[in-house]
Amino acid sequence: LEEVKGCDLEPLYYEPLYPEHPQYVNRVIVADFVSMEEGTGIVHIAPAYGAEDLDLGLKCDLPVVHTVDLDGKVMPAPVLSFVAGKFFKEADNDIMDDLDRRGLLYRREIIRHTYPFCWRCATPLLYYAKPSWYIKTTARKERLIAGNEEINWYPEHIKHGRFGDWLENNVDWAFSRERYWGTPLPVWRCDSCGKDNCIGSLEELRGKPGLSAEPMVLEALQKGEADLHRPYIDTVTFDCSECEGGKMRRLPDVLDAWFDSGAMPV
Ligand SMILES: [Zn+2]
Ligand SMILES: [Zn+2]
Repeated sequence: LEEVKGCDLEPLYYEPLYPEHPQYVNRVIVADFVSMEEGTGIVHIAPAYGAEDLDLGLKCDLPVVHTVDLDGKVMPAPVLSFVAGKFFKEADNDIMDDLDRRGLLYRREIIRHTYPFCWRCATPLLYYAKPSWYIKTTARKERLIAGNEEINWYPEHIKHGRFGDWLENNVDWAFSRERYWGTPLPVWRCDSCGKDNCIGSLEELRGKPGLSAEPMVLEALQKGEADLHRPYIDTVTFDCSECEGGKMRRLPDVLDAWFDSGAMPV
């Protein structure tokens, strides 16, 4: 045995407990957010289940693999099929038993550690990576900062304080929400070839070939009087311009309420 620094382990590869990925994934990566205040200073990275994990995963080209579904139940594939369908916390013992049987378990004990809970109802939370729509606000960062200089702020300290800080530390805006109420995301996707089409106006939507909707919605659309919210807008389909016979259907997401706030005249 010998003592080494964490950074000396960087190029090492390890044999995973449940082989699932190409070998390049099972390696040691040095990261500055892992401390030795809690635990050993070694942490398993799961890009699908934590913001820091995902950041590091994207940087190091790790795959985002889901082993738990949105109900918190273990998925049948790719690795833990023997506990498939179990709530992930209830699978702990079976997984430890399995490791024990295979001679891979070093010690079994209960460790107290911090964990995220819902602040309203105290339900334990599970971070879960899901696709979302983004506006690349970072591409306009300099203009946003310059624009802030021209704003006459009351009170003055907000300008280079809270608002200025926020612009300086701007990250791309995840602006879609998986909700029912709200301004619908104006993106239609072809159910056959996957082509996306972002609609810029009512006029543009009305001019689409093969436009179809529930009779009342279609009539209102053609008069230019349509209610563009759900559920009406979800009945609107049109022909794909990229493939033969493909139907364009609206993606079900709505927009972040801040999108409406930002579009409000002042
Ligand atoms: Zn809650
Ligand atoms: Zn298509």
